[in-house]
Amino acid sequence: ERVNYTDFIHHVVDRFELNLKQEIDIKRNVPEEKYNVWVDKDKVTQVLDNIISNAIKYSPEGGEILVEVTKEKHQLLTKVTDEGVGIPESNIDKIFDRFYRVDKARSRQLGGTGLGLAIAKELIEAHDGEVWAKSKENEGTTITFRLPLMQKKRGQRK
Ligand code: ATP
Ligand code: MG
Repeated sequence: ERVNYTDFIHHVVDRFELNLKQEIDIKRNVPEEKYNVWVDKDKVTQVLDNIISNAIKYSPEGGEILVEVTKEKHQLLTKVTDEGVGIPESNIDKIFDRFYRVDKARSRQLGGTGLGLAIAKELIEAHDGEVWAKSKENEGTTITFRLPLMQKKRGQRK
């Protein structure tokens, strides 16, 4: 279905803000302009739920999370940055693997199965997108994904 992505992002972040149980500030940097993507809304909602709930889960009390949307050529980039525990360099490629969790002891008390990002990756790739991570231990993590933008010219619409 055709989705106005910027409206959609605001809606998802609004819902997180309403349900926050920690003292975490979610900031947004989302363009005013309307950008359409052709996606399964439920699936992309699931992706954002996974990524934003990780950012919250691995953030300290009082932390800040930034949700950014930018247009790059024919793509929309979505970035979720936190100031949380971060991920060691040597583990960064594994976090998208099924059941992989960094530091079992640390993760155990926070709960989870290690499936969230593996599912997110599958869903984004099913939309011809890509997802990746950048992180620094004890400083924070940024998860970025890109989705193809819908063409604006009528003739090019599928
Ligand atoms: P689930 O999502 O299934 O409830 P999970 O959150 O442990 O469990 P993933 O979302 O797949 O699993 O993430 C895999 C691992 O990557 C996590 O266990 C955690 O160690 C690490 N990780 C993911 N996101 C972050 C983040 N924002 N900050 C720090 N570590 C992270
Ligand atoms: Mg998770």
